[in-house]
Amino acid sequence: MSIFFRRLPKFNYVKPEKFSDALDILRENKDGRFRVYAGGTDVIPKIKERVMPAPETLVDLKGISQLNYISHDEANGLRIGALASIHDVSQAPVVREKYPMLAQAAASIASTQVQNRGTIAGNICNAVPSADSAPALLCLGGKALCEGKEGERMIDLEEFFLGPGSTVLGDDELLKEIQIPSAKGKGVYIKLSPRSRMDLAVVGVAVFADVEDGIFKDVRIGLGAVAPTPMRAKTSENRLTGESVGDQVIEEAAAMAAEEAKPIDDHRASAKYRRMMVEVLVKRAIGQIISH
Ligand SMILES: Cc1cc2nc3c(=O)[nH]c(=O)nc-3n(C[C@H](O)[C@H](O)[C@H](O)COP(=O)(O)OP(=O)(O)OC[C@H]3O[C@@H](n4cnc5c(N)ncnc54)[C@H](O)[C@@H]3O)c2cc1C
Repeated sequence: MSIFFRRLPKFNYVKPEKFSDALDILRENKDGRFRVYAGGTDVIPKIKERVMPAPETLVDLKGISQLNYISHDEANGLRIGALASIHDVSQAPVVREKYPMLAQAAASIASTQVQNRGTIAGNICNAVPSADSAPALLCLGGKALCEGKEGERMIDLEEFFLGPGSTVLGDDELLKEIQIPSAKGKGVYIKLSPRSRMDLAVVGVAVFADVEDGIFKDVRIGLGAVAPTPMRAKTSENRLTGESVGDQVIEEAAAMAAEEAKPIDDHRASAKYRRMMVEVLVKRAIGQIISH
């Protein structure tokens, strides 16, 4: 039967208004008793499709207004509260001006409806390899401020993802805020998907580079949908860093990024095609950065 005709299974529903109340609820979390959600754009369809088992209780975080913010200062960089919507991140003047790659990545997600409900925090916690915000956040040195019954901890996003749908977050932990340090350079996110809207990335490539006097000073390359988790292509980054800008080195680095990717064949694209597209898109993204 089509999922559109299926009813959601029964579960309890709570909507705490304070972050501390949500943490109190999760103290008792064991064996998937509670499932938190923010926008619900991943959780609700998965429960409906029976891809995710229905929890005993769904904990709606949207009532916690203290987590809905985007702030910035030069010393601390950008801070995105866990309930900031994808739309707000894509439109915030400070994100568009100082972190345009992240605004581009957020704007590439789904549709206006999904962007209005969904959050960047949910995109990260959902941990699918094709999450559009992840390559950009990895390139920008993003960190996740999380809190659980043991207190707060800061997790580098490079260490956050364990595999498809899996993160280092414990059952009692919540992501509170995404932090992105200030950095000098330019960034570009390119999403390849068969349809122009409402489609997941077949390949996502983010490149951030600081180019000074014709030299690559700092280069970071993030890849999505080509490995079990979003990843950095560090061999490729190292090939470029410290080198003079030139076609040969860019071509070598792009080929290295394709080598570093660990794509799979699936119904959306073959591994071979994905690898080829990594090479093409890394080259294209670097080209866009150096031509500005
Ligand atoms: C039609 C459609 C199209 C889509 N297209 C795209 C696309 O193009 N690109 C893309 O990347 N994604 C896409 N998605 C997926 C989804 O919209 C995004 O991943 C979105 O960012 C999820 O945010 P959310 O707030 O709705 O997450 P939710 O569904 O609320 O939660 C997602 C996961 O994160 C957990 N979670 C949420 N917030 C927290 C928190 N603060 N702390 C701990 N855990 C938390 C939840 O328990 C759940 O496991 C699409 C979804 C739909 C329905």
